[in-house]
Amino acid sequence: MTALEAGTAAYLDALRDDPRLLRGFFRHLPKGGELHNHLSGAVSTEYLIELAAEDGMCVDTATMTAVAPPCGAGTRPAADARTDRAFHDALVRAWSMQDFPPGGNGHDHFFDAFGKFGEVTWRHRGKLLAEVADDVAAQNQFFLETMVSPASDGARKLAAEVGWDADLARLHGRLTAGGKLDELVTEARAEADDADTEFRTAARCGTNRPRPGCRLPVRWISQVSRGSSPERVFTQMALGMRLAERDPRFVAINLVQPEDWDSSLDNYSLQMRMVKYLRGVYPKARVTLHAGELWPGLVKPADLKFHIKEAVDIAGAERIGHGVDLVHEDDWQRTARTMAAREIAVEVPFTSNAQILGVRGDDHPFETYRAHGVPVVLATDDPGISRIDISHEYEYAARTYGLSYPELKDLARASLEYAFLPGTSLWRGNPTRDGYRMTPVCRGLHPGLTEPTAECRRLLTSSPKAAVQWRQETAFHHFERTFSTTL
Ligand SMILES: [Zn+2]
Repeated sequence: MTALEAGTAAYLDALRDDPRLLRGFFRHLPKGGELHNHLSGAVSTEYLIELAAEDGMCVDTATMTAVAPPCGAGTRPAADARTDRAFHDALVRAWSMQDFPPGGNGHDHFFDAFGKFGEVTWRHRGKLLAEVADDVAAQNQFFLETMVSPASDGARKLAAEVGWDADLARLHGRLTAGGKLDELVTEARAEADDADTEFRTAARCGTNRPRPGCRLPVRWISQVSRGSSPERVFTQMALGMRLAERDPRFVAINLVQPEDWDSSLDNYSLQMRMVKYLRGVYPKARVTLHAGELWPGLVKPADLKFHIKEAVDIAGAERIGHGVDLVHEDDWQRTARTMAAREIAVEVPFTSNAQILGVRGDDHPFETYRAHGVPVVLATDDPGISRIDISHEYEYAARTYGLSYPELKDLARASLEYAFLPGTSLWRGNPTRDGYRMTPVCRGLHPGLTEPTAECRRLLTSSPKAAVQWRQETAFHHFERTFSTTL
């Protein structure tokens, strides 16, 4: 530990019982990259309500669901929320976990929120990103991967047209025949262009008053709706992976929707085989999978035994989202050892796990993963719905598990190390196992204190990943100078 690290660690230990100072410490702490984030669930509910009002949307008052205008019987204009406080607050409660009673069904309320505000969000990927990118930058993070569903309607139509075939190679052939899948790729790229334009306008990028989000590197992850029919799931997977190979703005796929739905459970193993097959076709596309977002009582015991294991062993996932039911799985120690050996990081959103699954504290496998040498990255999942931010998640981790400052620093570093950002790392070897030591070309340098040598600069110029890692190390230097002397 350096003297500055020791000073910062001492400061953290001294203020463990002071909530106000802790909040400031975690707010300023550099917190790596956000790797598990659903764009529509990440935006603040207040912003969604304002967006609905701007668009002249209506709200079905029985279900509190946004619907397109005109506002007919049983609906009222979303703009009423600007003046009617009770209506506004009712919308906030319906579209988020605000005031959700402990002991209620958080799982359903959480997932239902996406459907209630969906009519507002799908039209405005760029505006949503402008909000989320600002939030991420304000949280002292340096990179964002966020999830969207590209060419969603087109993928649904193509899947219906092509139908199902259990021979995955033949099914893929039918999707690509006559350039059909490529048309979807074109559609998805045009959507991303529109989102870029809307983002740059909303964030004022390129003007003399750019919002902080303009500087944030962002990549898209394509969502696949795991509750859908097998042909639709396969089509979305193929589209997302083809997109990741054709357009550098897209990097990976992920499976979304509740893992405990009947259709998700029935098709789980089939979906893992689909990913395995498509990885052979699209070797450059990255894969992270929600797996093991389950708990005893939510599904029958047989369904708790293999989801993480198959995501790792069959699908070849490079990261796992949630992984909460780990110790309930068959042969879980072997799965954990495999994850450690292959550096398969687990994305941990504590508040989401508490709200959806009721899992927190010692029940959570956070410490188990760490004890087995599995890389862990903290994430927010849906900070808008959860009404939290990443600083809150770091503070929760520190307080609940008594993490020291160097452990928190390594969590932040891990969330850039295991990002799907291209390029060689600033760190050598397997840093989760061996510690974060700089790669030989940059060894002995102190970001924030010393300038990179010519050799090291070549790495930072050629590698987007190393560049953000260097930025974070520089931020750590300034953070430690501030907080190690605050005592
Ligand atoms: Zn998620």
